Amino acid sequence: MDLSRFARRRYTAGATPIEPAPRFTAALAATCPGGRGPEVWIKRDDLLGLFPGGNKTRKLEFLVADALAQGADTLITCGAPQSNHCRITLAAAVKEGLHCRFVIEERVPDSYRDDASGNHFMFRLLGVESITVVPAGSDMAAAMRAVASELARAGRTGYVIPGGGSNAIGGLGYVACAQELQQQCFEQGLRFDRVVVGSGSSGTHGGLLAGFLGNRIDVPITGIGVSRDPAQQSPLVLAEARAVCELLGLDLAVREADVHCVGGYWQPKYSVPNARMVEAVQLLARSEGILLDPVYTGKVMAGLIGLARAGAIEPGERVLFVHTGGLPSLFAYSREVLGHTDLAP
Ligand SMILES: *Cc1c(COP(=O)(O)O)cnc(C)c1O
Repeated sequence: MDLSRFARRRYTAGATPIEPAPRFTAALAATCPGGRGPEVWIKRDDLLGLFPGGNKTRKLEFLVADALAQGADTLITCGAPQSNHCRITLAAAVKEGLHCRFVIEERVPDSYRDDASGNHFMFRLLGVESITVVPAGSDMAAAMRAVASELARAGRTGYVIPGGGSNAIGGLGYVACAQELQQQCFEQGLRFDRVVVGSGSSGTHGGLLAGFLGNRIDVPITGIGVSRDPAQQSPLVLAEARAVCELLGLDLAVREADVHCVGGYWQPKYSVPNARMVEAVQLLARSEGILLDPVYTGKVMAGLIGLARAGAIEPGERVLFVHTGGLPSLFAYSREVLGHTDLAP
């Protein structure tokens, strides 16, 4: 598949590493039935550029290139108060000499605090131009269009990036990741039985799926929901994968059966900590020295751990966990992550 006809900015020097996690693998096996578990490897997308980068960095390489092609002077996007996507979009704007404005959805009432740490602190540090806070359930697209209109009245040009950067253009970032993975596996003589990735606004899961199908990479992708159970999540992933295939002009039907989503690990609510997330974050930190985040990757790794213990990921399977980043929000939840607060199981 040829991605070169799409404009792209580069925010990372090369491929992110694929690393074995032998101590984590051993620690996990010790808690699995019969003392046997999967062999876990990690795709270090937490090391992507626009530091501390993450999966949004890949999507923004294509989205920002499109914004520049359209003559935009301001990026407009939206997210939750601790949004990694907003922070990384802002970092890309700074790097490109653009302005950046956010619409922030207070999904958990009263969670927006002007003096919050983590990503929010970085919004200020990196110089966001304005933040509009709206209540949970607001029409985010309409709120962003309003910001764009306000800019237009001032003679400026805004470029609206949807939540999580998850549209067809953003999904190209994970088609590129699929190609990168394929090349790395070829060069390193590696073969995986499964890829485990977080599934939220679905650009990552859907883009990766489109990339796997388009490049005929025959490895199942398990998406762990960070905000929805499969009945709600799978259709989003399917729609994203189809939109990406269409943009690529692929003569390829993505079927419902190609989408594998797992629920049950994000509760009680998106971004609200639970005990299994804390166990996962602590286990990887203390076995490999790699930091997960409480909102996304901690819950996704909790899913990998839970599936391994239940035998749904089989002993001896070689699994690639895609670490999608999210480091700053760890600092906004330090008490919870250290186990100093009572949590949902
Ligand atoms: C946004 C995000 C995800 C979810 O990715 P989507 O493409 O929105 O599904 C996972 N992990 C981290 C750290 C994120 O910031």
